[in-house]
Amino acid sequence: MQAQKQKDIKFSADHMLGRLSRWLRILGYDTDYPPPGPDKELIESAGTDNRILLTRDKTVAETKKARVIYIKSDRIEEQLMQLAEELSLELDANLKEEEDGSLVNRCGVCNGILKPLPAEAAKEKVPEGVKAHIDKYWQCAGCNKIYWEGSHWDQIKERIEKIKKSR
Ligand SMILES: [Zn+2]
Repeated sequence: MQAQKQKDIKFSADHMLGRLSRWLRILGYDTDYPPPGPDKELIESAGTDNRILLTRDKTVAETKKARVIYIKSDRIEEQLMQLAEELSLELDANLKEEEDGSLVNRCGVCNGILKPLPAEAAKEKVPEGVKAHIDKYWQCAGCNKIYWEGSHWDQIKERIEKIKKSR
């Protein structure tokens, strides 16, 4: 079975899965993380929006109104591995650009689209040590957070490679 690309799949995560939702966004999966509220609303919004609902709640997992995956573990590594196995999910943390220069990867904070940001504009806002050797930046269209490929991103990639090797 071929690995499922980021574009083909969307998630909604329950309030127990904040960390997993951040990781999925960074990996490029459109992941909704609604504020805590009634289960019914969580299920309905996932269903209407055609999102796979990820939950740690066994009652929620029984719904027939949305596609659901019951997440078995509390550990992020095992959670990602479970999704990789059940959905043939592609776990690839590399930064990938669309044709318009936006990233496939999404903002971990708010799920926003990361748009290219001219270096001159970015360099007014990033730390000295970064602007000295980074010339390519993206900015979240949702929360304005600025991203670049650097040590933080290398750590994320390393983590993902480790998780994949443990499979
Ligand atoms: Zn954002």
